Amino acid sequence: MENHMTVTFDAISANEAFARMVVSAFLVGRNPTVEELTDVKTAVSEAVTNAVIHGYENTTGSVTMSCAMEGTALTVCVQDFGQGIADVKKAREPFYTTRPELERSGMGFAFMEAFMDSIEVFSQPGSGTTVMMTKNLLERD
Ligand code: ATP
Ligand code: MG
Repeated sequence: MENHMTVTFDAISANEAFARMVVSAFLVGRNPTVEELTDVKTAVSEAVTNAVIHGYENTTGSVTMSCAMEGTALTVCVQDFGQGIADVKKAREPFYTTRPELERSGMGFAFMEAFMDSIEVFSQPGSGTTVMMTKNLLERD
């Protein structure tokens, strides 16, 4: 089975829930397990929250989420056009956060890694960040 979709929404925290629902709706046709759905929703939530809070620091902007289902492989890309990340390797380390004053724990990337099979982060200071995550889902008939 093959399917693709892209949606662009405002970078506001209310859209974290929207993005979770959109990815759920994208997957529902192939009857995912509860665990698969929870994992993907958590990872999407972390990526969208990062775009809103860090990418745009709560100023205006937009976030584009693309989902692709190719065979049993799900790919989700979350892209922002915000400030970008100077040192991606460092940003991905568990407990690393640039916003401790917001009571951030620095675990977002670690969760994305734990709940998906792979994540790649492309970022350029000044132009934005793209997080590409993949997960292999159970075979469905
Ligand atoms: P938590 O996710 O636990 O609330 P956090 O968001 O700080 O805390 P991560 O999600 O792991 O932790 O992100 C680590 C750091 O990477 C952030 O503190 C921020 O500096 C940077 N970062 C992550 N995503 C983006 C983004 N989209 N744009 C700019 N910087 C980002
Ligand atoms: Mg985070």
